[in-house]
Amino acid sequence: MSMPDKASTSIREPARDTPVRHEAEVLVVGGGAAGVAAAVAAARSGADVLLVERHGSLGGLATGGLIILLLTLDDGRGRQAVAGLCQQVTDRLDARGAAFFPPPGEWGVEDPEAVERARRWGLVWGRPPHRVRYSVAYDPAMLKGVLDEMLRDAGARLLLHAWACEPILEGNRIGAVTFQSKAGRFAVRARVVIDATGDGDLFAAAGCAEEKTMVLPWMWFTVGGVDVDRAIEAGVGCFQTIGQGKVLLPWGSIEKVGRIDATRPEDLTRAEVECRRRVLAEFERLRREAPGFADAHLCQVADQLGITESRRLVGRSVLSHQQMNVVLDDAVAVTGHWTKYDALYHIPYGALLPRELENLLVAGRCISVDHRVHQATKEIPACMATGEAAGTAAALAIRTGVDPSQLDVSQLRSELVERGAIVSLAPGG
Ligand SMILES: Cc1cc2nc3c(=O)[nH]c(=O)nc-3n(C[C@H](O)[C@H](O)[C@H](O)COP(=O)(O)OP(=O)(O)OC[C@H]3O[C@@H](n4cnc5c(N)ncnc54)[C@H](O)[C@@H]3O)c2cc1C
Repeated sequence: MSMPDKASTSIREPARDTPVRHEAEVLVVGGGAAGVAAAVAAARSGADVLLVERHGSLGGLATGGLIILLLTLDDGRGRQAVAGLCQQVTDRLDARGAAFFPPPGEWGVEDPEAVERARRWGLVWGRPPHRVRYSVAYDPAMLKGVLDEMLRDAGARLLLHAWACEPILEGNRIGAVTFQSKAGRFAVRARVVIDATGDGDLFAAAGCAEEKTMVLPWMWFTVGGVDVDRAIEAGVGCFQTIGQGKVLLPWGSIEKVGRIDATRPEDLTRAEVECRRRVLAEFERLRREAPGFADAHLCQVADQLGITESRRLVGRSVLSHQQMNVVLDDAVAVTGHWTKYDALYHIPYGALLPRELENLLVAGRCISVDHRVHQATKEIPACMATGEAAGTAAALAIRTGVDPSQLDVSQLRSELVERGAIVSLAPGG
């Protein structure tokens, strides 16, 4: 029997008592690049932290979405703009032979050969004249392991396979968050909550101001057994990646699927199935027609749809395009722009704070910025930087006995700098 699909049709769920299964000083929801950085930073700063993730591994789009390029850690002129935890992740990947990046001496240079070397790995974008960026190609399986390890080393607790449902509000604070799991529904009580769900599930459920954008879905995939030199020289749209004879196809089924609302399961289902069908067809086409692909095999198809944007918080500050290259005194992170060589954004603390709630912080791709700035702040290094800022802020709030909304931002900035993060960089220097 088919179910009625009318907006007016609803059922009333019975009220119930939900068991509190965990308590934490800092609850981080979502284990993508931002959430892991937040949890590690908060735990290193002495807080009792629980990170809850709906899937079975960490990294979000940076692993499950096969978005395996850190673009970028620099300002486009050869200076590092994102350091801190993102740099530490890069170091750990590099120590395992799981990262490629141009050496520091090449950052910012216009030398065509060095630019070409970086371009092969997908590290050069935007309009010429090009310079070498400090960007990183890496292995996603290794990143999953590195993130597990960093969380464990920091002493943060981890709970996988639980999906956050709703924040339980106590006035203008979140008292607890409910989760759904195979073991039923349960709650986690916390003093500070960090929404690192990418889609802003918590601030949306709490009724905070937000903007939503419809996007074209992507589904990146990797292929092995490729004559990489031949394929790249012939102009096949692929990049060299970690592993002998392996390439990354940054692929999107753009015209056919159309824009989707990435918070609607119906849209996501249609996009996943159609993208996967087309990826397989595209792989067959490459093997038949593309130079260097005759003996190719499919390695991995992203098991998380590539969603660049969905909800964005409209917070206490909204970082706008007009603030490009403006140094902000309350910045807690800095980022360059992956397609531009002259764009630097200082991300203010208020971009992580909802207007309506006192103890919720937001990190990652759904922070409070305008649509154009989002192009820069959604990138993985920037997500790690805002995650690190949110986690450090949460722990500082606990230590000083205030809510994150009341925090001394200069003290937060000092702590971030002590830990190796960058919170200020003169534009054009
Ligand atoms: C096609 C495409 C190309 C891109 N290219 C690049 C690139 O080349 N370089 C670059 O640096 N960036 C790139 N990006 C951007 C970047 O990949 C993402 O914006 C970034 O990884 C987002 O990190 P995040 O932690 O904010 O969110 P996510 O990676 O989305 O992580 C959110 C996490 O929260 C979990 N979660 C969500 N909801 C819940 C819930 N209710 N309960 C529990 N857990 C939940 C998810 O499972 C996930 O693990 C690209 C993005 C796309 C889509």
